[in-house]
Amino acid sequence: MKKIKINLKEFLETILPHPKLFEILTLAQNISKKRKEFLYFAGGVVRDYLLKKIYKKKVSKAKDIDLVLQGDLKSFLKEILKELKGEILFESQFLTYKVKINLNEKDFLIDFITARREIYEDISKLPIVFPSNFRDDILRRDFTINALIIGLSPPYEGILIDLVDGINDLERGLIKPLHLNSFIDDPTRIFRGIRYKVRFGFNFSEEFFLALKRCFEKEALKRLSGTRLANELKLYLNKEPEKNLKTLLITTLELKIFENSGIKTDKNILNSLVSLLKDLKEELTEREREKFFLLGLVNPEFVDGFYRLGFLESEIKELMKYVELIKKALPNWEILSLWEKIKIFEKIPPTYLLVLSLHFPSTKKEVIKFLKDYRKVRPELTGEELKELGIKEGKEIGKILELLRKEKIEGKIRNREDEKNLVIRFLLNKSET
Ligand code: ATP
Repeated sequence: MKKIKINLKEFLETILPHPKLFEILTLAQNISKKRKEFLYFAGGVVRDYLLKKIYKKKVSKAKDIDLVLQGDLKSFLKEILKELKGEILFESQFLTYKVKINLNEKDFLIDFITARREIYEDISKLPIVFPSNFRDDILRRDFTINALIIGLSPPYEGILIDLVDGINDLERGLIKPLHLNSFIDDPTRIFRGIRYKVRFGFNFSEEFFLALKRCFEKEALKRLSGTRLANELKLYLNKEPEKNLKTLLITTLELKIFENSGIKTDKNILNSLVSLLKDLKEELTEREREKFFLLGLVNPEFVDGFYRLGFLESEIKELMKYVELIKKALPNWEILSLWEKIKIFEKIPPTYLLVLSLHFPSTKKEVIKFLKDYRKVRPELTGEELKELGIKEGKEIGKILELLRKEKIEGKIRNREDEKNLVIRFLLNKSET
């Protein structure tokens, strides 16, 4: 076990996102000393602090703080909450607590974790956990670079503990699992490893590939639940810098992770997906963007992939209905007018429309233009103004609005005057017939 003395004050100044957190941590530190229970930082904060030291890189302040206690966490938290305003927001089956602490009118969220041991009874299933000591808690972790801890209280106050040669791997830039069955126990670690590799520009160690091979042999990725698989992939989109998305997906493809998870996809689809996501960022809500991302990963010729990512039968059926709709229109696509195409696009929700444009590239340019522009085109004349011009309420208003939109999109009318003239022509035509 490697033990290195560190400057705790400097560590805290580097990682803490707010100066007021010092007070909370000092209190936690004092309570743990009084109770003689070892309190320490683990995971991302320790890794990022060392990254900063080793590579002199600018590392952002901790977004979430993981504090681990080797002891009775529930009663420890009770003591803290006697001294500070706050509440336990969530208690998980893994002996963890999300706690909101209010200090001088400001709320802080801290994840408190019980030092624990994990037992994986079945491939790809969630573990059973038991309270344990810091050694077991280190050894349950995903990668050596995430298995470093810094003590806040005795017996290791101000000490960095490295049981697994994590500092060496940080220096060499290696993503190394703690043991070769790691991905059989929990295949989500593969996606985590890919994120760290790309985020830090590291390499996979030999052990990573060996563990991956074992995971494939046991078909562990196929046994990972759809929800867990989808959640990991969503982190590519939501947690990592946008510029990394393409590399994340291509790395996943090249390591044959999609294939071994039961998802058929290819490089062209992934490249096109990334560029569409970027191009249409402003046009989609967060939920639409997430849904498009997941649906877009799958080649629709192999529908099983959609089930694999946890989509509902009804959603898949709906998408397939639109696939048929486009397929029917495609043979005549070149001779359809722009307006006829728009009428088809309007029947399809934006998320599904984008998925179709990925797989039927001849529609792509117009789908993008539709989502960015055409669908937002509205006449300048208001309903009131149309009534004043002599348009009747009800069906007739609908008809003229549609005509105005069509002519505007086709570039035949440009301003209010043109619109008024069109309305007058419409009324004249009607009186003649
Ligand atoms: P970041 O948030 O920067 O991606 P992090 O390390 O803080 O990195 P979290 O997901 O918050 O990531 O996890 C905290 C720590 O918990 C990790 O550093 C790792 O030690 C451990 N951990 C998280 N998920 C797993 C897992 N699936 N298997 C083993 N250990 C894990």
